[in-house]
Order: sequence, then structure tokens, then C-alpha cells
Amino acid sequence: MATSTNSGCLFIISAPSGTGKTSLIRALLKRDTHLKLSISYTSRPRRSAEVEGRDYHFISEDIFKQMQTRGEFLECAEVYGNLYGTSKKWIDTAIAAGQDIVLEIDCQGAAQVRRFFSNAIGIFILPPSCATLEKRLVSRDQDDADVIKKRLEAVREEVSHVNEFDYVIINDELEKAVNNLACIVNAERLRRERQINKHQALITQFT
Ligand code: 5GP
Repeated sequence: MATSTNSGCLFIISAPSGTGKTSLIRALLKRDTHLKLSISYTSRPRRSAEVEGRDYHFISEDIFKQMQTRGEFLECAEVYGNLYGTSKKWIDTAIAAGQDIVLEIDCQGAAQVRRFFSNAIGIFILPPSCATLEKRLVSRDQDDADVIKKRLEAVREEVSHVNEFDYVIINDELEKAVNNLACIVNAERLRRERQINKHQALITQFT
């Protein structure tokens, strides 16, 4: 499904774990109130700082699989042994209403979304270095050593998908990275097709 010029923009943001993607997206949403984050469903247990409905919809693996069978996910993937999925109904409704949306999903999910929304905008976030990434994963103290090891192994695989994205941001400094994200969002909103559609009355004044 290709979105029309009246539809909202669909931004896909992917990054290896520990890249600071969640803080970055939170800062972007605070700055740009016209953007809405899609809240994913996951079978992963809730972490202590997380809130149901704000960070994720936390559901059991059984319920997840039932939703999957009913075709309720636009995309879904297994990441580090847990299931994650994006609600198809929520996205379809929001996009059709002209809402700009952010999807914070992994590369497998991004590839699935692109099949339905060919003009989705992909943004890949990279950490400034491999050592910084490892340090961040250890210091956030939310996963045990085994999980951290798995996450680090998965980083190489994730970064190998960087070519599938339209934009790349290095998250070396939060403020700078948020500015860059906001620039991309604004530039995409100002694309000729969208602008012509939105400002038809202005353009016809000159014809
Ligand atoms: P975490 O468990 O650390 O919150 O997320 C682990 C990974 O799952 C991250 O790479 C995150 O982007 C990805 N993820 C979160 N929600 C979704 C989703 O709905 N679909 C897909 N494919 N990946 C997701």
C-alpha cells in the first residue's frame, strides 16, 4: 500500500540496542507534537522503569500468537528471543487521518513495513563506536551478561542492514542527534508532492 500525499509520513527508526534510540525518540516527540509513536506489542517481560501502554503493550506469547494468526500485525519479528509486533489497525487509521508516525522497530520489521508502505522513510541510528555501545549496554544495567553478549553479537547483523535505510544518524551527542532527526522529519514534510497537494490554492493563484 502506497500512502497518498494526504497521508501522514511514516518514519521507521532502527538501531542496534544501546544506541540511545529510545531517549532520542522521546526527545524528538517532546519537541514535535505532530509526531506520534506507535506502541508495539511484545511478549518480553516489562522492565521496572517501563509503563504498560507507554513503552509497550505487554502480552503473553500465547496472546501474541493469536493476534498474529488473526493478521493483526503490520509486521512482527522475534528479537533476542522475544516477540514484537506493530498493530496494523492503529497504523492504517493514523496514517489515513494524516497523522505522522514513528515506528521504533528492528531491521526485520522495517523490511516488512516497506513492502506495504513503499514511501516509508527509514532512519538508522549508529553509536559513535563499538566500545561506546558495549559500555552503554553494561551501564544501563537492565540485562544480564548473557543477554548483553547476545545483543552485541546481534549488532553486527543489524548494522549490515544500514544500506536499506534512507538516512543515517550518529548518536554521539543527544542534542545534535535530535536536531538531525528533526531536520529529516521537516525535510520529508516539505517534499514537493506533499507541498503541492497542501498548497494547491496558493499555486493556482499563479497559474
Ligand atoms: P527492547 O526489548 O530493548 O525494548 O527492544 C529490542 C528490539 O526490538 C529493538 O531493536 C527494538 O527496536 C525492537 N522492536 C521494538 N518494537 C518492535 C516492533 O514492534 N517490531 C519489531 N520488528 N521490532 C521491535
